[in-house]
Amino acid sequence: MAASQFDRTADFLGLDNAVRERCKWPKRLITVTVPIQRDSGETEVFFGYRVQHHLSRGPVKGGLRFHPDVNLGEVAALAMWMNWKCALMDLPYGGGKGGVSCDPRQMSEHEMESVTRRFATEILPFIGPETDVMAPDMGTNAQTMAWITDVYSTHKGYLAPDIVTGKPVELQGSQGRDMATGHGVAFLITRAFSKLKIKEKDASAIIQGFGNVGYHAARTLSRYGVSIRGISDVTGAVWNEAGIDVDKLKEYADKTGGVIGFPDAAPIDPDDLLIQPCDALVPAALERVINDKNAQQLQCRVLAEGANGPTTPNADAIIEQRDDIFLIPDILCNAGGVTVSYFEWVQNLQRYQWTEEEVITKLETKLETAFEKVIWFSEQNKTPHRVSALALGISEVAATKSIRGLFP
Ligand code: GLU
Repeated sequence: MAASQFDRTADFLGLDNAVRERCKWPKRLITVTVPIQRDSGETEVFFGYRVQHHLSRGPVKGGLRFHPDVNLGEVAALAMWMNWKCALMDLPYGGGKGGVSCDPRQMSEHEMESVTRRFATEILPFIGPETDVMAPDMGTNAQTMAWITDVYSTHKGYLAPDIVTGKPVELQGSQGRDMATGHGVAFLITRAFSKLKIKEKDASAIIQGFGNVGYHAARTLSRYGVSIRGISDVTGAVWNEAGIDVDKLKEYADKTGGVIGFPDAAPIDPDDLLIQPCDALVPAALERVINDKNAQQLQCRVLAEGANGPTTPNADAIIEQRDDIFLIPDILCNAGGVTVSYFEWVQNLQRYQWTEEEVITKLETKLETAFEKVIWFSEQNKTPHRVSALALGISEVAATKSIRGLFP
């Protein structure tokens, strides 16, 4: 998907072949084995990956994912998307992504710590504040980043908070980083609503995924007055036409392990959830959930891609024909996370902390600028929003590569 989106956009931009090839292929793909001792006493070997797509504009930046489906190809695709996302947002980074194929839902806190510390140790020679700065992604969180900071700092002999972002605030993480991705998704939805003349207080939303992104998107949207009708996670989906109390659902899901069984909403089939009428549909979980099976049936006004790669190219072709859907493509929609990661890295380099208000104001300014650029590009070139966002990102990277020239 990532490669075909790239090819399509490179064709549109008419990129010359030399730069095109240099933009397309990742610089480094690192595979490591991650052996740990399980709580049972048995030894288990997991596989870990880190893909550094390019370092032309600065260190590579991107999350670390713990999920059973993680593989090298997926990580490479996610690293490629991070490139275009960072360039679109005008952040001085290349794209990177990492992952360990393991199931956090079947692991204790101690086992998670072992996997994290061993993975960090294995990739230690390849990371650094000027080469590769990781952050949370699916299945990882601020605690994971704290362990990586500890491993790296222990090896260096001094505290190096700039090695990762998304750290706990106590460890020089940034105010606002935890909510940044979801807040950004909700903020951009309000920008789209204003173009479509939809008022927040009359609007409804459906959220797929109730992790960091889905929860904060739902929470912020409901603060804006949007009614959250349906929410799903790995355990199932729940629906309440009159609106779900997001904070109550969060409390329930934390206690029981998921949204299913929430007393103030009815269960609904998770696939059916996606095709219910709403003003904003937010896929905030895995890839490829909007596909040729459901794209024609979507009944949302705004499709806001909180996840990376939730829409297949076939579904894109369908959505492009539908004038009734306003797409906020992933590399723009979920860019709030990496943007505040950049703010965190800047604060760490300066050994200085900003307030939450400063962070959120700067975040919204950056998101609004990128959003307007994408809309402007689409209007000028009659291109779908996804192609416009990718074109803006890819052309930045291509320009850097041609200006720097080829070594040797
Ligand atoms: N994992 C997030 C993403 O996919 C954040 C990456 C970062 O903050 O570096 O954009």
